[in-house]
Amino acid sequence: VIVEEGRAAGVVVKKEGGKEERMEADYVILAPGRAGSAWLLELAKRLGIPFRYGPLDIGVRVEVLNEVMEDVTKINWDPKFHIRTKKYDDFVRTFCTNPYGYVITENYGKFVSVNGHSMKNKKSNNTNFAFLVRIHLTHPVENTTLYGESICRLATTIGGGKPILQRLGDLKKGRRSTWERIEKSYVEPTNKDVTPGDISMAMPARIVEDIVEGLDKLAGVIPGINEDGTLLYAPEVKFKSVRLEITKELETTKVKNLFTAGDGAGVSGGINGAAVTGLIAAREILRRGGIKVR
Ligand SMILES: Cc1cc2nc3c(=O)[nH]c(=O)nc-3n(C[C@H](O)[C@H](O)[C@H](O)COP(=O)(O)OP(=O)(O)OC[C@H]3O[C@@H](n4cnc5c(N)ncnc54)[C@H](O)[C@@H]3O)c2cc1C
Repeated sequence: VIVEEGRAAGVVVKKEGGKEERMEADYVILAPGRAGSAWLLELAKRLGIPFRYGPLDIGVRVEVLNEVMEDVTKINWDPKFHIRTKKYDDFVRTFCTNPYGYVITENYGKFVSVNGHSMKNKKSNNTNFAFLVRIHLTHPVENTTLYGESICRLATTIGGGKPILQRLGDLKKGRRSTWERIEKSYVEPTNKDVTPGDISMAMPARIVEDIVEGLDKLAGVIPGINEDGTLLYAPEVKFKSVRLEITKELETTKVKNLFTAGDGAGVSGGINGAAVTGLIAAREILRRGGIKVR
């Protein structure tokens, strides 16, 4: 990002082959997505833009038979349950439910994690959803991204480069899962490019206990969700990116005409919110350009 006299004045892009091109602009919107949040942090440090770290959401992806979830997903395709755990007073939530869906592996380069999706024309026997514990860090370490990455790296090490798959029953009994044990389960995993193992070897005890307690609580609304055969894939992680100090129009307070939008800038946490923040920034730019927007 080019900054001249405290104002954004354009960007320098690196083209294929490494050649740089300077592009001048009156306004710049930073919207690099989650994958670009580390880049944004470095940029904020370089430009002296004040920022704070967002919380980390980390846990597992839960997979059960469609029948277990159907009473709920027939009413709401992507239900959000917010749970407070008793032991740690932590916030645990369901997120990104995929009825008739598939669990997928995401490769971040330094580690792997899981996610899920549903398809229009291909349906599985299972429903999956993320079950995530919210972590805030204060003193002496605030960087939740680093903390989350180190958990994911450990999980990837234990999984031999693949996500870990464990039956809830095995986790509760303190033993690892094996393919033999998983085959005894009613639920057939939709992602088999995983390593059956022990999530408690990979994640802090607090997160594991929150997940087990949270699923027991969730069973009050969704009976069967905490059965021994329920499958857990780890790690699933949602990094809340750093949030730069911005105005309500999403312009940075330090550099004028420099706007932020989307998940990478920590101003949204999903596809609709990302689109809305892009609109907020764009409308403000148009307004300043004297262009009327409805
Ligand atoms: C598997 C999966 C399932 C999801 N399911 C849901 C869901 O059900 N509901 C929901 O609300 N959200 C879901 N999401 C999240 C949703 O995709 C994001 O919230 C949304 O895409 C964020 O939009 P964004 O514009 O901030 O970032 P992105 O969509 O990530 O866009 C950022 C773009 O910037 C580009 N970029 C970054 N850095 C650079 C660079 N240096 N140079 C050039 N280009 C760069 C990236 O390549 C990318 O194209 C899902 C995400 C995944 C991965």
